[in-house]
Amino acid sequence: MSYDQNIKEIADKDKRYLWHAMQPYNEQSQPMVVTEGKGSWITDMNGNRYLDAMSGLWCVNVGYGREELAKAAYEQLTKMPYYPLTQSHLPAVQLAEKLNEWLEDEYVIFFSNSGSEANETAFKIARQYHQQTGGHSRYKFVSRYRAYHGNSMGALAATGQAQRKYKYEPLGNGFVHVRPPDSYRRPAGMSTEQFQRFCAREIEETILWEGKESVAAVIMEPAITGGGVIVPDPIYMKEVESICKRHGVLLIIDEVICGFGRSGEKFGHLNFGIKPDIVTMAKGLTSGYLPLSATAVRKEIYEAFKDQADYSYLRHVNTFGGTPASCALALKNLEIMEREQLVERSRMLGERLQTELQELLDHPLVGDIRRFGFLMGIELVLDKETKHPLPLADVTKVIADCKARGLIIGKNGDTVAGYNNVLTLSPPLSSTDEDVDFIV
Ligand code: PLP
Repeated sequence: MSYDQNIKEIADKDKRYLWHAMQPYNEQSQPMVVTEGKGSWITDMNGNRYLDAMSGLWCVNVGYGREELAKAAYEQLTKMPYYPLTQSHLPAVQLAEKLNEWLEDEYVIFFSNSGSEANETAFKIARQYHQQTGGHSRYKFVSRYRAYHGNSMGALAATGQAQRKYKYEPLGNGFVHVRPPDSYRRPAGMSTEQFQRFCAREIEETILWEGKESVAAVIMEPAITGGGVIVPDPIYMKEVESICKRHGVLLIIDEVICGFGRSGEKFGHLNFGIKPDIVTMAKGLTSGYLPLSATAVRKEIYEAFKDQADYSYLRHVNTFGGTPASCALALKNLEIMEREQLVERSRMLGERLQTELQELLDHPLVGDIRRFGFLMGIELVLDKETKHPLPLADVTKVIADCKARGLIIGKNGDTVAGYNNVLTLSPPLSSTDEDVDFIV
């Protein structure tokens, strides 16, 4: 069989047997079948090379093709492939200790497989914690519109994007949404600082309107990523932290994208000097090489789960969460980030990218450019005065044009709400200077 015939056969089989995420059924679709990756670059089966400025799904932080990671997983798989964390194994203990170092504080770690599961675990822990510490009626969660927290029924309920939820509702009960701190779209006449304080106050008012004795936790990302790269002011985050404390509400920080150097700090919340009660993480934990996620919980919360009558332990298990090979690979991944100082590199490359892309603001369709570490959002508008979003078809065309020139970028927002107009860049933290030149 010729090489071309082989390619056609794979493409036909893909069309016939594979259901792709976030893609409609389409007889004419031409999926990109990726065969290799090295550094920030991927190659498809037609031999086309692309700079992947989205790190897959915001996760390949150390870049593609790291043999060290494959080796760490292989060695662990040959030695001890599986044991559930109802008991223990060495890589899990070592990784839990390492994560404490990265979090710069003391947490107890529960391992799962995906960001969605890490958030579901956080919700169950928050509800049960309140039940066992006298807050029997606290079951609600406050989250923000435009945020994404996962695909499962609870994590999707916490999500604030109508597009993701439409046709799947009703989802989990007890999720309440508030305005995101999107300073670009603040009301006229309000300063950025006033607006950020206003958004934080809305969280407090919501807690009071809902009845503070009914609210278990607030969940938020350090910066809203998938919803259009909305970066808060530190004032907002500090305010949210003190509101939660004031009303006995737990603060869950979703670091699924912002964690592991993406924000220019080890974790996004460390940019704001806040101390969350629960931190959830996934993606960059293994740089996407194997599935693994974690829910990091303060010791004081964990202590409420001590053995008493009435099933007071966390009755929550998953078969694959924290498998030895995933943990061993994650440890090696963090070792690479430390050795190559990728957190610092993320900060430096982010600053450079912003400086060099700043002139895009002169373009009539570019309304705003926002950045959190090495993560950027470029908001496209039809009109800079009205800030009317550029229609999705045009945004899609920009992305296709970039791809035709060998650059993969993303788009985010919420189509149903009329905002799917933010181009996103989240390149591997290991990107070279030449990679950044190419993006620019
Ligand atoms: N939280 C955030 C902020 C995310 O961006 C995502 C996924 O993109 C998730 C949670 C869910 O993670 P997963 O897709 O691993 O379930």
